[in-house]
Amino acid sequence: MTTFVSLISGSSGNASLISDGHTRLLIDCGMSGIKLKEALSAIDVAPESIDALLLTHDHIDHVKGAGVVSRRYNIPVYATAGTHAVMDAGKIADENIKIIKDKDAFEIGSIGVTPFAIPHDAKEPVGFTFTVGNEKYSIATDIGKMTRDILESIAGSKNVLLESNHDVEMLRTGSYPFPLKQRILGDFGHLSNENAAKTALYLVQNGTKHIMLGHLSKENNRPEIAMLETYNLLSASGVDVGKDVTLQVADRYKVTSF
Ligand SMILES: [Zn+2]
Ligand SMILES: [Zn+2]
Repeated sequence: MTTFVSLISGSSGNASLISDGHTRLLIDCGMSGIKLKEALSAIDVAPESIDALLLTHDHIDHVKGAGVVSRRYNIPVYATAGTHAVMDAGKIADENIKIIKDKDAFEIGSIGVTPFAIPHDAKEPVGFTFTVGNEKYSIATDIGKMTRDILESIAGSKNVLLESNHDVEMLRTGSYPFPLKQRILGDFGHLSNENAAKTALYLVQNGTKHIMLGHLSKENNRPEIAMLETYNLLSASGVDVGKDVTLQVADRYKVTSF
């Protein structure tokens, strides 16, 4: 049975886990080693049993505990050359540095992995699709603007963890300084609720059965607002939410299972 969970999700920290019972992959580790251990214990996974850590990009909300977790449990860290070059997460042993590339598929144990490039203000950032048996699963967060390339990469996924970062009006009228607002709204920032909704509709039309909205901004979003935006567009387009697709929001601080 496949386990695909968000351990934590949001601007304050991100980490997810996918496992088929044989291979366990941790995706991002924007939390301390202690917090990771706690989160994993909630789903009965021992940190020692993690086969690999995959990083989407170097931002601290994704790599905070990467170095310590790799050293403590001797876990290989798969990331693009750009991410490895600039991330500030402490020393990783040479033999645990694994370089990955956009569109270069590889396997870790029994799980297939394909990274895909994402427009985001980091060095060589990626999202991931995973193949377990005949099924596909995707993580698509930290996306400045949705691209044809990303849609093609994630289309056909059974489950997708999709960014729904901010409500554009809350962000525009909120307290963030202007340059930060510009950054988030820009093509290399984060995906709005509105664009998450459009992406969700495309996904459902292409076979996705389970969508988890994640990476919500604490200041410029609320779970019920993100949920409603996607729910409304899906419903208005004839999708029976709950029957055709399940829709939920990843919790900021605790494990959320698909
Ligand atoms: Zn980021
Ligand atoms: Zn992030």
